[in-house]
Amino acid sequence: MTGLAPDGGLYLPERIPAIPRAFFQNIRQMSAPEIAYIVTSLLLGDDIEAADLKKIVYDTLSFDIPLKEVEPGVFSLELYHGPTLAFKDVGARFLARVISHYSTPEKGDVNVLVATSGDSGGAVANGFHGVEGTRVFVLHPKDRLSPMQKRQFTELGDNIMPIEVNGNFDDCQRMVKEAFLDKELRDRMCLTSANSINICRLLPQMFYYFYAYSLYLRSTGKKADEGVTISVPCGNLGNLTAGILAKRMRLPVNKFIVANNLNDSFARYLSSGHFMPKKSMKTIACAMDVGNPSNFERILDIYSNDFDALKRDLEGFSFSDNEIAEAMYKLYHTDGYLTEPHAATAYLGLKAYKASGGKGIFLSTAHPLKFTETVEKIVGIKMKEAGTKKAGETLPHHEVSIAPSLSALKRIIMT
Ligand SMILES: *Cc1c(COP(=O)(O)O)cnc(C)c1O
Repeated sequence: MTGLAPDGGLYLPERIPAIPRAFFQNIRQMSAPEIAYIVTSLLLGDDIEAADLKKIVYDTLSFDIPLKEVEPGVFSLELYHGPTLAFKDVGARFLARVISHYSTPEKGDVNVLVATSGDSGGAVANGFHGVEGTRVFVLHPKDRLSPMQKRQFTELGDNIMPIEVNGNFDDCQRMVKEAFLDKELRDRMCLTSANSINICRLLPQMFYYFYAYSLYLRSTGKKADEGVTISVPCGNLGNLTAGILAKRMRLPVNKFIVANNLNDSFARYLSSGHFMPKKSMKTIACAMDVGNPSNFERILDIYSNDFDALKRDLEGFSFSDNEIAEAMYKLYHTDGYLTEPHAATAYLGLKAYKASGGKGIFLSTAHPLKFTETVEKIVGIKMKEAGTKKAGETLPHHEVSIAPSLSALKRIIMT
């Protein structure tokens, strides 16, 4: 519920339990929620009662996560079949249900603040929509989001309140931070954050690494202790951190490939040993345009600052817009597989890692439809806008527009 620790640091589990070996012997017979339930109960112990935890996990994973072989030995884990068409649905839906589990009428509503520059707003709003005892405020910068990204949280209504800020994303993020530090707000109501620094959004992302392994064994007929290489398209490194935690729980991963676009602070760190964050630049894989990834400190801590140990598990590569576009073109026209820029970056990372012969799993984090314009331009096809509403079917926009100041935000939250 706290989001950030009181000293400004990020939370991590106190201990990371190892999964019994027998689990992996049976993993290929298990469904995604079955696997997720076992992993979560090991992590959370008795914190949440078994029946409640089971319901939270099963509700979270109520959509498909297929593993598709796009070239011999090269698998795409499609994490984008959730309601907002990006992998962030997994973390956001779990977080929403856990917060709802701990909220009671006596404590009053839990007020969730989230600043978004794109995909997080939709995933969080959708995850919390209709969840009793919660109210969600989505702060987004005026005129920066794509129409589809915006529709995902402005058309819901009920307990979801979009707030357009007359400023940029940094203003939104600053206002959220200021709100947490404001004594009057804290005394009067329960406030929490739903961004990726919240550990509760990160832990459930471990689920699909285990599930991917289960599907991988099924597809390849390999034995349960054979390792696999997994390529992760990285921005704030939340997804990668979850994978590393899964490996700590004994998931047999030989290597994680860190696939960056030109915002490659972490890939450069892996080759030089020096971490030099820089200002982010705009690329076609825009959800990974992060100059100073927030989960870097978590990864250092997990490896106790041991660079050699970290290098044994991780290998980094970065790719330009041109390279990403060429991969998308090739994947469609040679392999018949449609991707978007983030998945294509992960694919390139996997192919660049020669030690595994370019084989393994890459994570497809968003649906191609979420980036229709870019995909159509690069691949040269017309896509159907599946899943969008017909004209006349749109719901009313619930929206307020405010100045980029804490006092403006407070007026809204408190009334
Ligand atoms: C957020 C996002 C990423 C980056 O994930 P991190 O956990 O921030 O590293 C990659 N791809 C897509 C589509 C995203 O929305």
